[in-house]
Amino acid sequence: MDIVVKNLTKKYGNQRAVDDISFEVRTGEVLGFLGPNGAGKTTTMKAITSFLRPDAGSILVGEYSAITQADEVKRVIGYLPEHNSLYTDMPVIDYLKFVAELQGIDKSRIPDRILEMVDVCGLEGEKHKKIGELSKGYQQRVGLAQALIHDPEVLILDEPTTGLDPNQIVEIRELIKKIGREKTVILSSHILAEVEATCDRIMIINKGKIVADGTDEELKKHAQGKEIIRVSVEGVDRNEFIPVVQELQTVDSVDPVDSEEDNSNSFEITSHLDMSSRKAIFQQCVEKGWILTEMTLIVTKLEDVFHDLTMN
Ligand code: ATP
Repeated sequence: MDIVVKNLTKKYGNQRAVDDISFEVRTGEVLGFLGPNGAGKTTTMKAITSFLRPDAGSILVGEYSAITQADEVKRVIGYLPEHNSLYTDMPVIDYLKFVAELQGIDKSRIPDRILEMVDVCGLEGEKHKKIGELSKGYQQRVGLAQALIHDPEVLILDEPTTGLDPNQIVEIRELIKKIGREKTVILSSHILAEVEATCDRIMIINKGKIVADGTDEELKKHAQGKEIIRVSVEGVDRNEFIPVVQELQTVDSVDPVDSEEDNSNSFEITSHLDMSSRKAIFQQCVEKGWILTEMTLIVTKLEDVFHDLTMN
């Protein structure tokens, strides 16, 4: 089931928490919302799940409008809110039964769905405990189980791995990826490794605007633009090395890595857009009799992309 968001805006007073954003998510896609605190991730998710009415724009979840058909949208969406509020006095099993009934699941199917959720979310050992007695990580699993119990076509998860230990994080990521093969999933996170590991596509949001949208490879490539390599050579003076390399057609700039130190023999070499200087530099070294001890491609990390796009 596809989600189509067009020109979505939500204001709080004068502040535009979400500012005229448009995007689509397709069935079988796991989209990660990434953004600093207050970027507008939760507001967007709440609007898609019909928990919040936007000031402008339209949202379609499949054929249903999130603005005028809230009941239908809530039936096809599973939602794990940021502050996962659960009934702490209820035992896990009873709570899941309660949610299943609220979702209108056929009574005859409820016991099987509960067993399936207990199994999928790893709650076997905790299922008879009251929710208030569970650790934070297990409470998060109960939140996921309630989001999944009616087998929704669309899953919206606001920071799903908060409070989980590293092993649980790996398990939940795997679960989300598995679900994402057949359904439509949007998750939000501050953790870059999480979106890289779990999502097919990443959308970076800053101050209510979409500032990047693509696979992690696409985002890195876009930010990287030019090839930057670190080269270390021996048997050469920097005053000789820099001008010779700068003469190569492909080279944009040559910067000593340690500019304080005159005898440094490490350089960062930036090529012109869409060009590579690696072969030419290797050839120069051979011709000049310089000993090449390092040639490393400097790869842009998602951290760098995130930093560049959200620090203004
Ligand atoms: P975080 O990562 O910290 O959860 P977020 O990206 O989910 O942040 P939102 O919760 O969507 O951000 O908030 C976006 C902006 O809207 C913030 O500046 C926030 O203070 C403001 N905001 C959100 N809810 C309300 C509200 N009910 N009343 C007033 N302002 C709000």
